[in-house]
Amino acid sequence: MTELELIIDLHKNSERQGPGSEKDTLRALDLLNLPTDQKLKVADMGCGSGGQTILLAKKLNAQIRAVDLFPEFLEELNEKAQKLGLGDKILTLEKSIDDLPFKNEELDLIWSEGAIYNIGFENGLKIWSDYLKMGGYLAVSEITWISHSRPKEIEQFWKTEYPEVDVASNKIKQLENNGFTLVGYFYLDQESWIETYYKPLQARFGTFLKRHNNSELARKVIEDYQAEIDLYHKFKDYYSYGFYLAKKN
Ligand code: SAM
Repeated sequence: MTELELIIDLHKNSERQGPGSEKDTLRALDLLNLPTDQKLKVADMGCGSGGQTILLAKKLNAQIRAVDLFPEFLEELNEKAQKLGLGDKILTLEKSIDDLPFKNEELDLIWSEGAIYNIGFENGLKIWSDYLKMGGYLAVSEITWISHSRPKEIEQFWKTEYPEVDVASNKIKQLENNGFTLVGYFYLDQESWIETYYKPLQARFGTFLKRHNNSELARKVIEDYQAEIDLYHKFKDYYSYGFYLAKKN
């Protein structure tokens, strides 16, 4: 198995593939105050195994296209949706989120938790904006500095990992420069990193290593995630995912 295949395997059979929680998805939905009298066309970009997709399907009168690059996650989402009787509301799409078959102004809502960084925030805004109807909504979470200044170590780490990391005011400016009006913002609290992502992830380390016969590459994957978790614990006061709710104008 390649390193990428191992990373996918480590993230299978879990509620979330990144920081976030049911509470955050509901809070974001609340801020949008979407109409319920019409069927909404929605895309969930980088849905993973669909923790948030299932919740959106339960809460909205909507047809949801759930997009991810990896079929392993989409199969999991399809199974969950069938079991919950939501199969007719969720249609999965195995594509890259910067190469989609949507028509101009087709969608009422674009949702994306912890995934836009894969194609870059501003690039994502530009591409996705075309698919949204005028007055349509965007709900997107993105790595964000939550303090004005920060230690060099974490600054350098994120600048290398994701050069677009920035404070919310600059992300909001990017939204405005690309034709959006901000309708709400909050950032994920530490519980949404630790309780719903890192702790369940760490709980899978043992079975993951066993499944892969403690191979060198599997151990490297675990070491890398442990280093990410340690870094989070050390610097959690300086960054989080900002959740941006915006309207196309
Ligand atoms: N939204 C899910 C959640 O919050 O649990 C998953 C978030 S996870 C941090 C990022 C997701 O983006 C993964 O499911 C990954 O497979 C997907 N992904 C990465 N690059 C992608 C791309 N270019 N196109 C589509 N999906 C991508």
